[in-house]
Amino acid sequence: MIFLNLEQKIQNAGLRSKDFFDQLAKQLLKKKFIIEYPKGTENTGTVEQQLSWFSERYPDFCYYWENQIVPQMASILGPPFEPKKLLLAGPQQVHELFSTIKDIQKQKGYADDNYGAMLLEIFNYEKCRAIIQKTLKQLEWSGCPYCNRNFITGFTNTNATQVTFQMDHFFPKSKFPYLALSIYNLIPSCPTCNATIKKDAVIDTLVPYDPRYDFDKKVRFVERGGEIDIEELQKPEEYQTFVSVMCTLSIYTQHTMVLEDLQKKMRNYAPSWIEKIEATGLMTRQQIMNDLFQGYVNPSELESIPLAKLRKDLAEDLGINAVLRGEQTDFRSS
Ligand SMILES: [Zn+2]
Repeated sequence: MIFLNLEQKIQNAGLRSKDFFDQLAKQLLKKKFIIEYPKGTENTGTVEQQLSWFSERYPDFCYYWENQIVPQMASILGPPFEPKKLLLAGPQQVHELFSTIKDIQKQKGYADDNYGAMLLEIFNYEKCRAIIQKTLKQLEWSGCPYCNRNFITGFTNTNATQVTFQMDHFFPKSKFPYLALSIYNLIPSCPTCNATIKKDAVIDTLVPYDPRYDFDKKVRFVERGGEIDIEELQKPEEYQTFVSVMCTLSIYTQHTMVLEDLQKKMRNYAPSWIEKIEATGLMTRQQIMNDLFQGYVNPSELESIPLAKLRKDLAEDLGINAVLRGEQTDFRSS
């Protein structure tokens, strides 16, 4: 729902983007972990060592990986293929990898075979989770980008920063295991959105880190018949899966109070009254209307104010913002 500017967050934390990513990749690639696959066998190694261990042991897997997957990855990430490039693939590349390999799985019927389980062992998120979490908690996260309702802010306890977010694999690791450690596939989100609602569902849109992610422009909350509704603009199908998987409408109908609050203020504070206050010169029209309706939010602030998108969209739909801009003399009558 909300665009996440990862580069900006890194910068805000006083870090250099290149250092941040290089250090993360270095730590992930040098970490040795133990896997038991199949049960009874045991292997210790880094991501790269696990990859070559599987390739030597299972010729079918080796063929699949080397001939089907690696050439596609190399065409997206640039040749030659290296695991580091996969871990640091940009938001656009993550979506391309997802689309391309989803097509291969479909054509070849690989989805149900063993390779997924093997890849999950190699790109082992569970064994690397602590490293990723430690890296991400250096950054400031404020609101859940999926629901724009719950805070995912960190807090300090016993002199350490504790996180309150869970990391959601935007393209679920159970279905796209090669993206399990790709940083741009990991979305800090609230436990309700990650574990209760989204789980392993596939949402085929750009990842919320992608600068082209424009949910805010294309999907709007509106008032229809006294209730909150959702209207999709321009390209209706684009974010439909998100809205349906994330139960957005059902969740937001719980927040009718925001709509009622705006409507009450629209009744109590007519534009003519606002003009009178403005004429005193004590406050600008923008100040008065923002104090009353909080309908104007800078896109970069959407993430940090719970329900800010709902409030902003409703202010637009109800004509509040049009009055503020001087385009209309009265609010929209319902
Ligand atoms: Zn959430």
